[in-house]
Amino acid sequence: MATSHDAGSIDHAAVHERYRIERDKRLRRDGNEQYVEVAGQFAHFVEDPYVAPVPRPPRSDDVTVVFIGGGFAGLVTGARLKQAGVDDVCIIEKGGDFGGTWYWNRYPGAQCDTTSFVYLPLLEETGHMPTEKYAHGPEILEHCQRIAKHFDLYDGACLSTEVTELAWDAGRARWIVRTNRGDELRAQFVVMGTGPLHRPKLPGIAGIESFAGHSFHTSRWDYDYTGGDPTGSPLDRLGDKRVGIIGTGATAVQCVPRLAEACGQLFVFQRTPSSIDVRNNTRTDPEWFETLAPGWQDEWLLNFTTLQTGGLVEKDLVMDGWTDIAKRVRDRVLADPSGDFSPASLLRAFNESDDEKMAEIRARVDELVADPDTAEALKPWYRQLCKRPCFHDEYLQAYNSPNVTLVDTDGQGVERITERGVVVGGTEHELDCLIYASGFEVGTDFTRRSGYEVVGRDGRTLTEHWADGMRSLHGIHVHGFPNLFVVGPSQGANLISNIPHNLTEAGATVATIVRHALDRRAAVVEVTEEAEQAWIDRLLANYRGFGGNPECTPGYYNNEGQPAGRRGELNTAGFPEGPVAYFTYIDAWRRSGRFEGLDFRA
Ligand code: NDP
Repeated sequence: MATSHDAGSIDHAAVHERYRIERDKRLRRDGNEQYVEVAGQFAHFVEDPYVAPVPRPPRSDDVTVVFIGGGFAGLVTGARLKQAGVDDVCIIEKGGDFGGTWYWNRYPGAQCDTTSFVYLPLLEETGHMPTEKYAHGPEILEHCQRIAKHFDLYDGACLSTEVTELAWDAGRARWIVRTNRGDELRAQFVVMGTGPLHRPKLPGIAGIESFAGHSFHTSRWDYDYTGGDPTGSPLDRLGDKRVGIIGTGATAVQCVPRLAEACGQLFVFQRTPSSIDVRNNTRTDPEWFETLAPGWQDEWLLNFTTLQTGGLVEKDLVMDGWTDIAKRVRDRVLADPSGDFSPASLLRAFNESDDEKMAEIRARVDELVADPDTAEALKPWYRQLCKRPCFHDEYLQAYNSPNVTLVDTDGQGVERITERGVVVGGTEHELDCLIYASGFEVGTDFTRRSGYEVVGRDGRTLTEHWADGMRSLHGIHVHGFPNLFVVGPSQGANLISNIPHNLTEAGATVATIVRHALDRRAAVVEVTEEAEQAWIDRLLANYRGFGGNPECTPGYYNNEGQPAGRRGELNTAGFPEGPVAYFTYIDAWRRSGRFEGLDFRA
């Protein structure tokens, strides 16, 4: 029997017209400028609530490698460096421990969205069995610490420390790294892995400075105020509180069910609903895990990435929402009797599958949410990949609790914040506590997000070099910045569904190059101007990135609906042939030993 979400029964034109209307409602002239920086009177929103800095004398040392950032990028690159026999590695991290995203984001309900078996790096190397298909935050943070311990990365690390200056000293062929703890490190190599989404932002709402109640950003959860802890203990100090949360992205989707259980009253202020697909989390069967043969994680990574990016595999090892849509597209194309595999046919199959998936997601809202008006407001009207897809089995149901109110703003956002609460549609909702689930800066200047400038050869800054957008070879090497490496997804594989995979590969590349430079006694490694330009030309000739779909509802995936321009395209570009092709390419590049594009100098 056909249902309303079978592809055949969908009125595609009507659906797309609704997508256009909903997008247009949300377009704002100020685009990415709308958000409020966590600086000045808002600076306390980024203080570390978890670990107080331990007093220590300033360091003045020569080191082989300084890595800036102690998240997955620093951990996996540190691990690869140690495996390559480079022992003298100093990781500088502003948090009080390793973990990056998972150090900061300890909000209740935090959980990975990509299966643990591919999301958690170095599982075989560290011998860890993820306890769940989608592990929760504390286990992921513990895994970060496990990697750090296993590879001795705590030795020489500078925690609770922020880099303030980074400058190339050509005479000594060293980077001079200064920090807010008075350190001066002279590093032969510097690697930066500060993460694409690490600086919290606040919503641009009139009166935001006036709220007199308690408030915090989800990435600095205040358990002293809410009670409970990240492991799931109830938030037992909220029973008599009126709590508001602004934002309904991936973070809010995970913490709203926990808040709903605990708050006297919870108001969820929504501008755009997320798409909420099935989670289906399961506990790992240790007997099954034992059967995995050595090398299994690489096999799973390749399987997931291939399937998720449109390739063919015999078996879907991961079986989740990410791979589901890819399989639907593939099956549609294969079922087409005309055998038409043209790009137009692939696009048609993709669009039809997406329409079908989104119709299912909207139907699921009706199934799970009792109040029809609330259900209607929770339905997402855009393509699934316009925003970060979400997966949850308790979020929608939370709106059935009598203490939970969805305050939908019909795409306009919160009208005003007052001393007492939040105003939407002329109604003031009085609150004791206001939680910002408003996300992280994307597309702002590198220095604003990192907190330091990088001064390269001849005094040229990275801000100047990247004024018209990021420029690199492989997303790693930057001309004019010798012995400096960047570890991140952009201009490399740009695999958004599994960020750590990008980092593990980049870490391997960096370690191979550092090892080679040390073995050859090369003082300096630098990408040539020609190689950097050739890479940029290659990326732009066939742009593949998430920065560009103006048909999507606004968000950080599409520069808030504004034309991305060349700068935006460069900042979000990926290898044109896709992540699997990039991983194959970079593996061959590393193995060749020729390091084409790099200049090694004595
Ligand atoms: P997002 O940027 O995704 O969400 C911010 C939310 O704030 C949006 O719902 C946005 O609405 C809303 N908002 C902004 N301004 C206003 C306003 N003026 N009035 C009302 N609402 C407003 O941040 P998240 O922290 O949720 O997620 C960021 C990213 O972090 C994710 O996309 C994902 O990549 C990652 N993440 C991953 C997780 C995982 O893997 N498990 C879990 C959580 C996050 P609008 O949509 O209209 O802009």
